[in-house]
Amino acid sequence: MTDVYQLLAEHLDNLPAGYPRTETGVELRILKRLFTAEEAEIAIGLGMMPEPCEAIAARLDQDAETLAPALEAMSRKGLIFRNAKNGENTYMAAQFVVGIWEYHVNDLDEDLIRDVNEYIPYLMKKGWTDLKTKQLRVIPVSQSVNAEMSVTPYEAAEEIVRRQSKIVVAPCICRREHAMVGEGCDKPLEACLTFGSGAYYYEQNGLGREISQEEALHLLKRGEDAGLVLQPSNSQKPINICMCCGCCCQVLKNMRTLDKPALAVHTNYYAEVIAEDCTACETCMERCQMDAIAVDDVATVDLERCIGCGLCITDCPTEAMVLKQKDDGDRYIPPGNTVETYINMATERGKI
Ligand code: SF4
Ligand code: SF4
Ligand code: SF4
Repeated sequence: MTDVYQLLAEHLDNLPAGYPRTETGVELRILKRLFTAEEAEIAIGLGMMPEPCEAIAARLDQDAETLAPALEAMSRKGLIFRNAKNGENTYMAAQFVVGIWEYHVNDLDEDLIRDVNEYIPYLMKKGWTDLKTKQLRVIPVSQSVNAEMSVTPYEAAEEIVRRQSKIVVAPCICRREHAMVGEGCDKPLEACLTFGSGAYYYEQNGLGREISQEEALHLLKRGEDAGLVLQPSNSQKPINICMCCGCCCQVLKNMRTLDKPALAVHTNYYAEVIAEDCTACETCMERCQMDAIAVDDVATVDLERCIGCGLCITDCPTEAMVLKQKDDGDRYIPPGNTVETYINMATERGKI
C-alpha cells in the first residue's frame, strides 16, 4: 500500500505551485513533521476550490459531523485553507509555498527550518524559475517612480493598499526562520501584508494583526527606508505584498544565485545611471539586493541582474540613478486575478 505521505506529496505537486520530489526525500520528512497520517489522508481529499464540510464529506464518503472538527483543526494548524465568508466556513487545499510554510510562522523549530532550507532550492527551481508564470512579481518603491511614468494601479504599492478593506500584517517567516538559526538580519520583522480572505485567515489563526490603511502605508515607507524589495502577488488584484530582503527571502536569495535574475522575475522597470552625475559613492551598490551594480569611476547597472525594485534610486545623493520603464512591447501584464494566475501555473506544469 502506498504510504500516505507519498500520496500527500503527489497531491501537493498537483497543485499549481507544485511540490517537486527529491532524491533525498526531504520533502517527505517535512510532511511528516507537519501532518499526522490522519491529517494527510484528509488533505489529499481537498482541491483548490473552497467547499463546505458537507460537500467534502460526501465526496470522501465520510461522516460530516466527524470531519467538521478535523477540517477546522487542520485549518487552524495551517495545513489547509479556511474561507469564512458570509459566516460559513469552507475549506480548500493549501499549497506548500506560498501557503502551508508561511502559515507556520508561529510554529517553527530548528529541524523543520533545516529541512525546509534544504528543500527550497528544489522548489524554487521547479516551481518558480522554470515556470513562466511566477507567484510574485516585483514593483518599484514609490519614491523611485517619477511623474512622467504611467504606473498602473497594480504596480503601485500604495494604490494596492488603498483599495483594501481588510489588511493584516504578519511577521516575515523568512527573517524569523533565519534568526532562529543565528542567520537573521536587522530588517523589520512585520513585513507581510495580506488582504481579503487571506487576511481573515491570518487574523483568525493568530498569525498577524489587523491594521488600517494608514498603518499599512506607514509600514511600506518603513520597508522602503530599510531597503526592502516589494513583491506583491502576481495578479492585477494582489492578495498580498511581501517586503523582502535579499539575505533571508527565499525567493530573492535563490534568484540572487542566478546569472540573470532579471529573466526570472516579472518586472516592468530597470535602473539606469546618468554617468556625468555619479560621484561613485557606492550607496546604490549597498542598497541593491541583486548585486546588479558595480562601481568603478562611475556606477554601472547589469540589466540582466536588475529586477527594477527602485531601491538604488531613492538613496542616491546626486540623483544620478534613475528608474526606467520598459517599452510597451516588453511590459508584463499580470493575470487578472489569483485564480487566473494559478490556472496559468498549473497549465504550464501540465497539471490541467
Ligand atoms: S517572501 Fe519576503 S516578506 Fe514574505 S516572508 Fe519571505 S522575506 Fe518575508
Ligand atoms: S548612489 Fe548615485 S552617486 Fe553614488 S555610486 Fe550610485 S549612482 Fe553614483
Ligand atoms: S539595480 Fe538593484 S537596487 Fe537598483 S533597481 Fe535594479 S535590482 Fe533594484
